[in-house]
Amino acid sequence: MVFEEVKNFINGEFKSGSSSKIHTVISPLDGTELSTFNESTMEDLNEIISFAQKAQKAWQKITLKERVQVFYKYKQLLEQNSSELTEIIYRENGKIHGEAKAEIDKAIELTEFACSLPQFVNGENMEVSKGVYCSSTKLPLGIVASIVPFNFPSMVPHWTIVNAIALGNAFILKPSEAVPISSQYIAKLLKEAGLPDGLFNIINGTQATVENLCDHPAIKAITFVGSTKVAKIVYQRASQNLKQVLALGGAKNHIILLPDAHPDMASSNIVASMTGCAGQRCMAAATLIAVGNCDAILDKLINDATKIQCGTTLGAVITKAAKERIESYITEAEQQGAKIILDGRNTIVPGKENGFYVGPTIVDYATAAMRVAKEEIFGPVLTIVRVDTIDEALAIENRNPYGNACSVFTQSGGLANYVTENASAGMCGVNIGVPVPREPFGFGGWNESKFGSGDITGKSAIGFFTKEKKTTTKWNPEAGTNWMS
Ligand code: NAD
Repeated sequence: MVFEEVKNFINGEFKSGSSSKIHTVISPLDGTELSTFNESTMEDLNEIISFAQKAQKAWQKITLKERVQVFYKYKQLLEQNSSELTEIIYRENGKIHGEAKAEIDKAIELTEFACSLPQFVNGENMEVSKGVYCSSTKLPLGIVASIVPFNFPSMVPHWTIVNAIALGNAFILKPSEAVPISSQYIAKLLKEAGLPDGLFNIINGTQATVENLCDHPAIKAITFVGSTKVAKIVYQRASQNLKQVLALGGAKNHIILLPDAHPDMASSNIVASMTGCAGQRCMAAATLIAVGNCDAILDKLINDATKIQCGTTLGAVITKAAKERIESYITEAEQQGAKIILDGRNTIVPGKENGFYVGPTIVDYATAAMRVAKEEIFGPVLTIVRVDTIDEALAIENRNPYGNACSVFTQSGGLANYVTENASAGMCGVNIGVPVPREPFGFGGWNESKFGSGDITGKSAIGFFTKEKKTTTKWNPEAGTNWMS
């Protein structure tokens, strides 16, 4: 075993889960065993809750400005430990080092935003009628939990950990069972930064653990990030139990390519978007809709994609099953008459023969009705559908049940506006392949890519992780005169 046994983090201490069910963590890079963990029980969760309740009561008594001080120190620790944290992500997730390092950089940026919360969180106070004042303040919810996916072992947990705790809540993280090791280091560093015990907790497990989180009455709010299938389950179950829920699901992002796009800019952005993190990003370019004659740009794009090499500029996919699923989409498209211009099936990286690799793949002349063009593949596969008009392209994009991201590539401002105004997606891009909004803007899609209101990061997080108290005050207008006399 390369890493220590993965444990729950309860009241500042690591402790094995109580279930006898053991889960093994496999490295996608070469199929080796990295670690194991015992799954958790409701008793483990109850233990976390009892400490978290006490810790949260004390934490909410200090001011926001005092609370964020711990995150200045934590940010420094992330910077100092960046190389080690990067290596862990590389080993457990299989993405290349540059992408793993980018996750830590993003975790640092998210922590900076949490440090700036005292500048953003403000109540209101106004005289609503003569001598009557209404004021509002934002208070923590209590205990909140986040359930996270495999594709960003550090960044996605940081979407919520730092804001939720800074805003006065105690926090429970349920890491993805595929990549639970990064979270162990997050716990160590938060403790080292001085975060009081009981405020950050980890519970390891799979479906049963998620169900326990959805059912536990002491948990006031849940965020979920993962597939749409599970997002719906979590949204329904936790809402049924009267919790506040925000559940982010899967995606099938569309790129609308117009013939006047800048060839280099379009090609480099689209190739990076389809192959980055081996296509295992909810913001990855998945279906490219070429409007009119885009052949010159597409030739360049195909040529650029050919240069992407598994093991150096393209990481592994998470499991053998994921590799097989991705390859089956390509095979099916081929059987249905699409052309496989670049074929990443059966890729073997020398020295890593047991790793899970799929090379960059371009499926051309697909129809919008094919599964390869419609469904989330979550691999380095770009499907090209060719149409004659922008409205046909938008109709395809609008018909898709997801609604995370949509980007247009063009040098015309008017056409860019037309696409972004009419795309049915929460995050739109113009000449950008991965249009992730940066803080203080919030991250969140539409349609089947998100259930619940608001976004998960940025200023939206303030609304999600707090409740507002409104106080109406009226004083006797004569009181001052009486007191004076
Ligand atoms: P997943 O849905 O399989 O798992 C996510 C979490 O849910 C994990 O912690 C897992 O243990 C838990 N889980 C799995 N099955 C469950 C069940 N039946 N009941 C309860 N809990 C269950 O997702 P994944 O494979 O880890 O991640 C990939 C997916 O996440 C893709 O669909 C991707 O688009 C999506 N994603 C979305 C966003 C976004 O912001 N919208 C961001 C990252 C990833």
